[in-house]
Amino acid sequence: MIAQTLASGVEQLGDMIASASVIVPFTGAGISTECGIPDFRSPGGLWTRNRPIPFDEFVASQDARDEAWRRRFALERTFAAARPGRGHRAIAALYRAGKVPAVITQNIDNLHQASGIAADAVIELHGNTSYARCIGCGARYELDWAKQVYDWTGHAPDCTACGEPVKTATISFGQSMPDGEMRRAAELARGCDLFLAMGSSLVVWPAAGIPTMAKQAGAKLVIVNKEPTDQDDLADLVIRHDIGDTLVKWI
Ligand code: NAD
Repeated sequence: MIAQTLASGVEQLGDMIASASVIVPFTGAGISTECGIPDFRSPGGLWTRNRPIPFDEFVASQDARDEAWRRRFALERTFAAARPGRGHRAIAALYRAGKVPAVITQNIDNLHQASGIAADAVIELHGNTSYARCIGCGARYELDWAKQVYDWTGHAPDCTACGEPVKTATISFGQSMPDGEMRRAAELARGCDLFLAMGSSLVVWPAAGIPTMAKQAGAKLVIVNKEPTDQDDLADLVIRHDIGDTLVKWI
């Protein structure tokens, strides 16, 4: 059911939050747009400006790796300046109140952790862009180091231990999903009584299958997103408004 107005959506969501014991939020890029980080698919979003570089291309081509890192450094100011928005802060408040055991996110921006949610309670399905890892041995690297290497050599960094390419700790198209995170996300979806999908176009699979998993296991499903999604028909409540405006009363 689509809420007719923001006010009626907030009221219905309020009733659902009040009567739920285990709430699992699932967030996408839309929760971070008010923090200055563009999403992928809105007009002007990252997708419209840069074709994503698939994982096999990153592995095979020095040019692709150089381009991937150039783009990452170009976004550094945006990521570094971003602070948790109203949506992040409202989720953090529900987490502190004991209603939210963990957050499942498609985001890579570290803003749920910055809002005060413990790192092990943020299930990052697509990784994290605030640090990097060697794609061979998994060694962790910080972005400052990668930038120094890039500036000195003009090229993407390689691992100092094994020589394999170093990549932001994100999951690219064509890269396998993290097993542990997918497992925990499925457990959370099946164990909650209210599942809140917010700021995701729900088109990136397999992450987009998680709201359905929750619904099929008996949870109420709420979708908060400015644009329609393919899963709106499945939802108990659809709020087609701004996430910050919708959640501000829970901060
Ligand atoms: P998406 O860009 O496909 O969809 C975002 C959705 O959020 C859109 O449908 C848009 O209408 C909606 N939206 C934007 N601002 C909103 C607001 N203030 N209130 C309500 N709705 C709003 O994003 P996705 O589904 O998360 O998939 C994109 C993939 O790209 C993700 O898997 C993620 O890994 C990555 N990504 C992450 C970030 C980030 O970490 N902040 C940013 C861009 C892309």
